[in-house]
Amino acid sequence: MGILDSGIRNVRNVLRYTIGSGSLDRLPELVDSSGARERGRVVYFVDDYFSSGSDLPSRLGVEATDQLEFVDTKFEPSTDAVDVLAERVKTASSQPVGAIVGTGGGSAMDVAKAVANLLTNPGRAADYQGWDLVREPAIYKIAVPTLSGTGAEATRTCVMTNKRTGLKLGMNSDFTVYDQIVMDPDLTASVPRNQYFYTGMDAYIHCMEALSGHYRNAIGDAFSRETLALCRQVFLEGDMMSALNRERLMVGSYLGGCAIATSYVGVVHPFSAGLSVVLGVKHCVANCIVMRAMAPFYGSLFDEFWQMVQAQSVEVPKGVCANLASEQYDQLYSATVIHEKPLANALGEDYRLVLTRERVEAIFRAM
Ligand code: ZN
Repeated sequence: MGILDSGIRNVRNVLRYTIGSGSLDRLPELVDSSGARERGRVVYFVDDYFSSGSDLPSRLGVEATDQLEFVDTKFEPSTDAVDVLAERVKTASSQPVGAIVGTGGGSAMDVAKAVANLLTNPGRAADYQGWDLVREPAIYKIAVPTLSGTGAEATRTCVMTNKRTGLKLGMNSDFTVYDQIVMDPDLTASVPRNQYFYTGMDAYIHCMEALSGHYRNAIGDAFSRETLALCRQVFLEGDMMSALNRERLMVGSYLGGCAIATSYVGVVHPFSAGLSVVLGVKHCVANCIVMRAMAPFYGSLFDEFWQMVQAQSVEVPKGVCANLASEQYDQLYSATVIHEKPLANALGEDYRLVLTRERVEAIFRAM
């Protein structure tokens, strides 16, 4: 199988971005110049990591008529949690919403995107899980990432788990893309080292999967190559959390997010989704756990990943699937092979011949 067209056309990217140390202080001015206050109040979704002991909420420029909601990010966003937040915003005031600001890691930024869509489109979050189901443009929205790697600031989706159907799927839509992003590398200075590494590696892993796949896009490839180059600087040249490397990773996260828009992931993300759905492991650490068993699929990139782990002295959990019940391995198998597009991208249409039930269990046991 040679290189195939990814089939993705006419891609939308974030309209505006600002980057650099101290950029957060420009947020109030950016909110004003967007015309948000003429349209109504501003709703701020902030990762609840900042709910105590941080000056971040006080620097956002929240005014008396605005609404500040902390987002619980212990678990990945569910469609139910998004519905609750959307309802809270609708009932909090009769004044219309002029803008939404999402501040935090991937989960907080994704929740803000989902609510922005639900304020202009009827129904519930689950109605829009899929591709191009959102009909009306969303509320104007701004992202302030405080973690680098998932690319949520740049993508056209907002990942949500539907607890009733077990479906982990976002609202893939041009309307989900942020209008403005504010990238302030100062905001990632206090992230715990392991978490900084796991999240940063999401960008590296997305792009290594995309560039190793069959379905490609010329611009997506360029975004992926630059993202990998930035990740190599960040994780192999000195301390990954130096001021320079934090800025580089913020750019890598953004470019990696742009790459996702035109490409597909490969073997790592389907296995990682299995760990998240069946065992509740969070996305970014799950990816790193899966990398323990990826030597047969990603040879030299596998070696490079573990060099990075060693260079930064971080810890990746081990043995999470060593002694599970046989029905849990069944669930892990189903939750992995269901991801047809990425697995076909990596292994070809007949990927089920490669990833047999026995092979998948052995891969999980090797993590
Ligand atoms: Zn990912």
